[in-house]
Amino acid sequence: MYAGESALEAHGLGMRYRRGWALKDCSFRLPAGRICGLVGPNGAGKTTLLSIMAHVLEPTHGSISLFGEAPGSADSGQRTAFLAQEKPLFRRFTVAETLRLGQELNPGWDQHAAENIVRAGNVPFDAKIGTLSGGQHTRVALAVALGKRPDVLLLDEPMSDLDPLARQELMGTLLAETAEHGTTVLMSTHALAELENVCDYLVVLSGGGVRLAGDVDELLSVHTMVTGAKDGEGLPASLTHHSLVESRISGRQFTALIRPDGPATGPWETDSPSTEELLLAYLRSPDAPPLITPTAQVQDQAYNTRTVAA
Ligand code: ATP
Repeated sequence: MYAGESALEAHGLGMRYRRGWALKDCSFRLPAGRICGLVGPNGAGKTTLLSIMAHVLEPTHGSISLFGEAPGSADSGQRTAFLAQEKPLFRRFTVAETLRLGQELNPGWDQHAAENIVRAGNVPFDAKIGTLSGGQHTRVALAVALGKRPDVLLLDEPMSDLDPLARQELMGTLLAETAEHGTTVLMSTHALAELENVCDYLVVLSGGGVRLAGDVDELLSVHTMVTGAKDGEGLPASLTHHSLVESRISGRQFTALIRPDGPATGPWETDSPSTEELLLAYLRSPDAPPLITPTAQVQDQAYNTRTVAA
């Protein structure tokens, strides 16, 4: 099932370094106009994936497309903005000169939008980039990325050095961007709680593979949190008929996140997980069965999964 146009598609994507695989056999799609959280433990492959999408790295296996084109094409380059973790800007340029450079390099530049982001953080336009605080630097880099008016915005831990108010405001800016211009956002982060009200799509990577991908509501609706009294040393036997993502025992109680394979009724309480609970359960259980919901599957997913080199 396809839900609208694909902004991004990865087909059997792999990146192998001499030390081993950074990404392996990744296949998923991100529909256009979504704000997608890219989550995973340190070393999971998030930066590698974003760098391939931004054409900073060439994959060693498989392929990727942005609106149907390879990341290296002139069209993809114009339609994509990438904010890398180190957020490179010229230290000797002033903020105003940095925005002017953005204007000269990008035909679709939106000076008004870029200036507004800088102004909202009270960053002086005549300050040199090298004199800015970490958070101010990030804000200017984000202004340059958004000023480009991209169709796809790739952000690698964009909020890590921003204060809580700045984070909230910039998350609001991303939401407004997507609502007004249909911008697709793929954003890696470790701040799971912040994803709750912003992202409507999720991709979880672990060990270089896709563990979870799909629309947030779709993902939440197929999971159930179960809490009850433990049976002997473990879970009640009837719960083990369902797909188990994670279970934890504390005292006489168990808590489990399951993907029910039918009605999950029994002597226990059930609830819907929050986005954060869902993500934490998958992060804690890298061996849980992966789930890529229908809207996140590429058409030839089964083919790619079978044929990519091990
Ligand atoms: P973090 O959350 O710590 O930023 P990440 O999910 O972004 O991690 P990546 O930076 O993509 O992870 O790294 C994935 C794996 O690839 C890691 O094991 C890393 O050591 C390895 N790796 C990344 N770049 C290289 C490189 N240039 N040469 C060799 N191995 C690399």
